[in-house]
Amino acid sequence: MCGIVGYIGQREAYNILIKGLKRLEYRGYDSAGIAMGGDNPRIYKCKGKVSDLEALVENLDFSGNIGIGHTRWATHGEPNDVNAHPHRSMNGHFIIIHNGIIENYTKLKSGLENKGYVFESQTDTEVLANLFEYFYIKEGSDPKKCVDAIRNALRIVEGAYGLLILCKDVPKQLIAAKKGSPIVVGIGDQEYFIASDASPIVEYTNSVIYLKDDDIAILSDSGLSLINLKNIPQTPNIHKLDLSLDQIEKNGFDHYMLKEIYEQPRSIRDTYRGRLNFESKFLRLGGLFNVFNDLVNADRIIIVACGTSWHAGLVGEYLFEEFTRIPTEVEYASEFRYRNPVIKKGDVVIAISQSGETADTLAAIQLAKRAGAIVLGICNVVGSSIPRETVAGVYTHAGPEIGVASTKAFTAQVTVLTMMAMAVGLANKNLTQKEFEDLVEELYLIPDKIEKILEKADYIKEIAEKVKDANNALYLGRGYLFPVALEGALKLKEISYIHAEGYPAAEMKHGPIALIDEKMPVVVLATKDPSYDKIVSNIQEVKARKGQIIAIVTEGDTVIRNLADFVIEVPACDFALSPLLTVIPLQLLSYYIAVMRGCNVDQPRNLAKSVTVE
Ligand code: GLU
Repeated sequence: MCGIVGYIGQREAYNILIKGLKRLEYRGYDSAGIAMGGDNPRIYKCKGKVSDLEALVENLDFSGNIGIGHTRWATHGEPNDVNAHPHRSMNGHFIIIHNGIIENYTKLKSGLENKGYVFESQTDTEVLANLFEYFYIKEGSDPKKCVDAIRNALRIVEGAYGLLILCKDVPKQLIAAKKGSPIVVGIGDQEYFIASDASPIVEYTNSVIYLKDDDIAILSDSGLSLINLKNIPQTPNIHKLDLSLDQIEKNGFDHYMLKEIYEQPRSIRDTYRGRLNFESKFLRLGGLFNVFNDLVNADRIIIVACGTSWHAGLVGEYLFEEFTRIPTEVEYASEFRYRNPVIKKGDVVIAISQSGETADTLAAIQLAKRAGAIVLGICNVVGSSIPRETVAGVYTHAGPEIGVASTKAFTAQVTVLTMMAMAVGLANKNLTQKEFEDLVEELYLIPDKIEKILEKADYIKEIAEKVKDANNALYLGRGYLFPVALEGALKLKEISYIHAEGYPAAEMKHGPIALIDEKMPVVVLATKDPSYDKIVSNIQEVKARKGQIIAIVTEGDTVIRNLADFVIEVPACDFALSPLLTVIPLQLLSYYIAVMRGCNVDQPRNLAKSVTVE
């Protein structure tokens, strides 16, 4: 979390920094700040959004060709002006911005306090600024040793950081360092653009370097040099960005989230394009080529993920067990990494993360690798840390997802998991050729069916109007639709702040039924599937307690229409693919409710996208 951006070159840095911060604001919006480097270093920062920062600096001098900017998601110290980044070291030698958490900061801080350092903020970041200064002064405040000071300081730092550093005594230099948190360096014509992701860079250049852990990049008018913490020169690996400006703008939609909901027919098509062929009924996942046999012969599949990706993983569990009969488990990455799980050589671990930077998922990958498992990734951001940490994987081609509440990444992840399970199921003969071909056809048609659901947006808005004042909501589903119930409840919680629970429909009787009264909306996923009759009974149970039913049903359903208060129809499809359709009305419902309640849909309180801290 936290967005960081930097510039060094001939242009005015300020506009590049502010524009970049706006693109990165999805990563955190507790405070914003910039520092201009050069001969006259200045810091401007404040609590609040980038727009507050713009208002603050309006009449101030923000000229300069070197600068760094930060948008914060607070981990250490409340969101206020003092804790906002950039942070300056006590004697003013260093100005830094940071994304990540310094885990041994208490120890480092008390060591520095014993040496006379006084701290202004409660952040772990300020400790780094002073630590750099301490090493720098110790080595005689020699500008030539500035990088050594940073390098030596970082060697004793534990935790995660993406850092941009200005040193007052070397005014025409900008230093970037990475461990755990992402840093991308864009290479222009005698200029460099640095950021947490490529979105602030794409406008200026499509040549980028993704820093590796322990890398330190030194950027100045004499070019870029790359070393690691041991001072060993590193060869910069230049990648070409496959990202356009259109993809990261709102294109006329009120919010990124709505734009991303509407993009799903395209993002699913992009995710299966070139992999799934309708005519020849062919499916090929190039990214799995080298590990495909290991996957087919896996003793067990373990899916690790967090949040919405974990819900996609749950759908994956149902898919893998049904199509391949390989035992599959789904784990929260944060639990998996700390609970001493049993991992064996024949296990295949699949890590799912939209950003490819999720800190807990990355740590889970490292644990699984150490235990000898084969680790695969399903990520959306090309070149991010998880694809680099895993031996193979499949990208979701959903395009940049900027709304904090994930929508199109979820359906793209489920699309990938479906294709993986289909490919393995055919290979290990748990799916017949006919079953496989039917699934190819079904999956191919999903985007058209989503388009039909999106046409019902006005009706879903009417339902939102009726239930927007609820304090609680329950989401029920069975089988493949249980993870969708969890995902629907999460969407409502995160953007509208209504308390919502997702439950397997039959479990309702074991507790949540006590919550039901006439004020409680109960969203029931009730498409035609093997447990349809059971879910109809669950609806009756809710009705008997005067709960308000919003049912997601298969087109033409007449039974539930007579029971439910509101019915949203989705086209018929193979049950295994129904999460891809039924989640769409739930995304729209949450969106409209949140808008009607006046919530900031794209930047919900306390949240941020790309959770790069534990
Ligand atoms: N730990 C730093 C702070 O609280 C940076 C937080 C982050 O990257 O999310 O200010």
